[in-house]
Amino acid sequence: MNEQSVRDFYKSYEQKKDQVLTLDHPAAKKAGVKLELVRMDQNHPGISGNKLWKLKYNLLEAAKKGAKRIITFGGAYSNHIHAMAAAGRLLDFETVGIIRGESPHQLNPTLQDATNWGMELHHISRTEYRNRHEESFQNMLCQQFGADYIVPEGGSNALALRGIRDWVEKFENCDTYCVATGSGGTAAGILTGMKAQKLLSFPVLKGGLYLKDVIDKMVISSGLSSIGELHIIDSYHFGGFAKFNNDLINFINAFQEKYKIPLEPLYTAKLLYGVLELTQSGSFQKGEVVRIVHTGGLQGIRGFNQRFGDIIHIS
Ligand SMILES: *Cc1c(COP(=O)(O)O)cnc(C)c1O
Repeated sequence: MNEQSVRDFYKSYEQKKDQVLTLDHPAAKKAGVKLELVRMDQNHPGISGNKLWKLKYNLLEAAKKGAKRIITFGGAYSNHIHAMAAAGRLLDFETVGIIRGESPHQLNPTLQDATNWGMELHHISRTEYRNRHEESFQNMLCQQFGADYIVPEGGSNALALRGIRDWVEKFENCDTYCVATGSGGTAAGILTGMKAQKLLSFPVLKGGLYLKDVIDKMVISSGLSSIGELHIIDSYHFGGFAKFNNDLINFINAFQEKYKIPLEPLYTAKLLYGVLELTQSGSFQKGEVVRIVHTGGLQGIRGFNQRFGDIIHIS
């Protein structure tokens, strides 16, 4: 794929701005806080949400280098794997997905889509998967599977920050951004381009306070600089990555019912649950404009429901 076609694909997204709506919620009204929700989830059905922007400069770089076959890493339900496969299909790259854990008897909807879109899947053990960030391991896999470009797990590298920065720069001022955090690439990117004082990052995994350091380092090594303060809000992981309870599921269903906006249980539900609780407990100031980023990931609901029995209502 040539660089110009990748550029052309992204041009239409650069010109568009995601919808920003105000959440009409009693707690917000009572506290005099404006809660905004940015519908990043509506940008592209395949390369969805934050992954569209995290991949932007990675895809451009791959094209610039004349790469034909991109290798990447992720779990079996990974939004990143899904997005990377969609991008490969759309922009004419071959893709190879290194999937954590042994091969299942039947592909879940995420991996089924990825396969349909031409991604070649290779399952490796969880032990082997721990080496995913090591250069020697990555190079070995490149050689083994004939790949010529590496995108790390979650797409999080310095190039990812630049894409997120392009996205966030389009929005007007607010006081505070709120985002769900996995690897920290999205939070780091927002920090480099936001017109706001503060970013609240909500880790979706347990013990996420270390992400403060990780995100700060990502910003530094990207060569960009951060605007405003980063705060890690470590109390809404619900027990860890992909962990949940009835409270969270009921919250998702009630939110969908009230606002007609879908949330998925891994990232965005934990974020919204947290922000609304903080609003209720008076953590924001009167008049504060709080902008919550809906980072997408809705494709994962199918696999989640398949596993746990249709507990998330889909409208
Ligand atoms: C990948 C993902 C995130 C996490 O982004 P990071 O850059 O890894 O912190 C958040 N929300 C959704 C829906 C995602 O798919």
